Amino acid sequence: HWSRICERLKAEVGEVEYRTWLRQITVGPVEEDEITLYLPTRFLRDWVRGQYGDRLGALWHAEVPAIRRVELQVARPSAQPAPDAVAQEASAAPAAAAPSEPAVPAVAPVAAESPRQAEVRSDLAAPLEPRFTFDTFVVGKPNEFAYACARRVAERPSSPGFNPLFLYGGVGLGKTHLMHAIGAELLRGGKVSVAYMSAEKFMYRFIGAIRSQSTLEFKDQLRSVDVLMIDDLQFLIGKDNTQDEFFHTFNALVDAGRQIVVSADKSPSDLSGLEDRLRTRLGCGMVADIHATTFELRISILEAKAAASGVVVPAKVLEFLAHKITSNVRELEGALNRLIAHANLFGRPVTLEATQDVLHDILKAHDRRVTIEEIQRKVAEHWNTRLTDMFSARRGRAVARPRQVAMYLAKQLTSRSYPEIGRKFGNRDHTTVMYGVTKVEQLMAQDPAFAEDVELLRRMLET
Ligand code: ADP
Ligand code: MG
Repeated sequence: HWSRICERLKAEVGEVEYRTWLRQITVGPVEEDEITLYLPTRFLRDWVRGQYGDRLGALWHAEVPAIRRVELQVARPSAQPAPDAVAQEASAAPAAAAPSEPAVPAVAPVAAESPRQAEVRSDLAAPLEPRFTFDTFVVGKPNEFAYACARRVAERPSSPGFNPLFLYGGVGLGKTHLMHAIGAELLRGGKVSVAYMSAEKFMYRFIGAIRSQSTLEFKDQLRSVDVLMIDDLQFLIGKDNTQDEFFHTFNALVDAGRQIVVSADKSPSDLSGLEDRLRTRLGCGMVADIHATTFELRISILEAKAAASGVVVPAKVLEFLAHKITSNVRELEGALNRLIAHANLFGRPVTLEATQDVLHDILKAHDRRVTIEEIQRKVAEHWNTRLTDMFSARRGRAVARPRQVAMYLAKQLTSRSYPEIGRKFGNRDHTTVMYGVTKVEQLMAQDPAFAEDVELLRRMLET
């Protein structure tokens, strides 16, 4: 049973997470409806309980219906050789052997600090994208407040009222651009150390530090920067241990008068799934919303980017693009870049006809955007189930299967992440969505009639 469960887990969480956390589990005795699993340290036990506890319970129950509960205990079974680089809480001893898997980066030892140069902590942070500066950011109604806040923080970091700065808005609206612009501006001014990284990177750094037993170094590094910027914080939803770590880092930095800048796709109060105390603190400084673009802003952005490229793009073409591609700036930019590349390559002037031709695939995709709600409605209709069962806690196959198909189609047809999809399905966990998607893929491979049904639904939703 256990090896089957392991296979499942590996498929759901990915090789890296599996190897880091779950491979260390050994199976203990079953008593009545409870199975005991062992982990070698208290830290690992707490982590696994926090991140995977429910899923382990569900998988065991699916394998062995009599098992209804999973008990996680700390014990290092003597038969098992010590795994390489086991995470050990509060152990700062230098790792004798580096972790053998290269997938999780270990944190490099703290580099000797250069005396006066401003620096990006390259040992810690991601490099800044040179294109993302305040100069290249086009300001309009939807983003002027966020822009002003970002400028203000870049000029005078750690001002009361602006710490933390919390930027939020949909995908591709300029959050990352503004954060990099803050970083670039601060570094130009000198004398500060800036660390920018995505929340995902933060998590992998943290995991890496635990594995290589260098958490204290990691904490010291983080807590020695003047400005810490964490992008896409929503990634930490459901990652309780990493959230904890971030919360402590956050407090230590703010208490020491350092600046924090955070971005997310939602406001602090809407980031359900983040711990309350963290959300509260995130909302304590300045919260700035980047709204969806307006037609005017899209035109301004296109004009600025066309001008910078040196290719003449007629106003009619810019208007056409601003009308057609409304979702986000990244896609708008992508479309314009393609036009410009074509113009340069073939030396032909950009016309409306040429635009429609060159961009026909992008434009087609923008004619229609499927929403998860539409998917749920269509799928429920198709299987004659009630729409509410998409969100309900009911578990029977008759309701679970359509729900899983809707999850699968949501993953295929929208750009939503697993946690986002989970939330649209009655606040289910992302692992449930991952499991549903995998299940549908398996069924489609086994059952051609089912596969045909799903394909039919997909075509109906796409056109
Ligand atoms: P987010 O982080 O919010 O998903 P990004 O900051 O990555 O979005 O922006 C996506 C792309 O759009 C980037 O190339 C960025 O330079 C560009 N962009 C977004 N907003 C603007 C703007 N107001 N002016 C110029 N470029 C922008
Ligand atoms: Mg971003």
